[in-house]
Amino acid sequence: CGIVGYVGDSKSVEVLMGGLRRLEYRGYDSAGIAVIDDSGHLNTAKRAGKLAMLTAELEAHPISNGRTGIGHTRWATHGGPTDQNAHPHLGDNGRLALIHNGIIENFGPLRDELLAEGFSFTSETDSEVAALLLGREYQRVGDLSEAFRTVVARLDGAFTLLAVHQDQPGVVVGARRNSPLVIGLGDGENFLGSDVAAFVEYTHRALAIGQDQIVTITPDLVTITDFDGNAVECEEFEVAWDA
Ligand code: GLU
Repeated sequence: CGIVGYVGDSKSVEVLMGGLRRLEYRGYDSAGIAVIDDSGHLNTAKRAGKLAMLTAELEAHPISNGRTGIGHTRWATHGGPTDQNAHPHLGDNGRLALIHNGIIENFGPLRDELLAEGFSFTSETDSEVAALLLGREYQRVGDLSEAFRTVVARLDGAFTLLAVHQDQPGVVVGARRNSPLVIGLGDGENFLGSDVAAFVEYTHRALAIGQDQIVTITPDLVTITDFDGNAVECEEFEVAWDA
């Protein structure tokens, strides 16, 4: 439902939780975050219920903070609103985290394919197939953006996907098809959001990305391609909004 991504110099947990708070108006039933800490470990926290449940979880069990992360508020479509079904979902043996807005219509056959290969699922969501496929592909190619190109070609439906891999700290990759995603341009930091509310507190400079495109952000770079990997130019715009 709501999506936020961050790379930069700030503590991600605070930036992501702030972004999720400003996306609350959209409605949701669960929330979660994943952060790559400064020693290169991926840490996640997720909870069914209001954002206050996730805040309480983070207070009870603080996660090691870092400068790269993704956050999600879920509006359940496949699988009930439980802690297990909340996003992020993990791939590549817990080294990769993925969040998803929308519906992956062909998740059934993809799930069967992964089960036949010996993968196991920890949720009832359609989204987890994307996390496991992306992890499998990452193991083959060793690059998140490239892995994304192969995976999106196999997905039917509407999606915004964001992922991080602990072997690529300082990188967040996103893809969209018939589902919203916007880039926020900072100074030595960059943002992704399902809408500008996710990052408007930090920057009013934004880039609109087209459908069927993949975006890779680092603290200093934004790279956008189509699903075949061809570079795409985007229009910068000014967000007219008082944070
Ligand atoms: N279909 C996914 C799920 O049920 C994502 C829902 C959403 O857009 O929040 O987990």
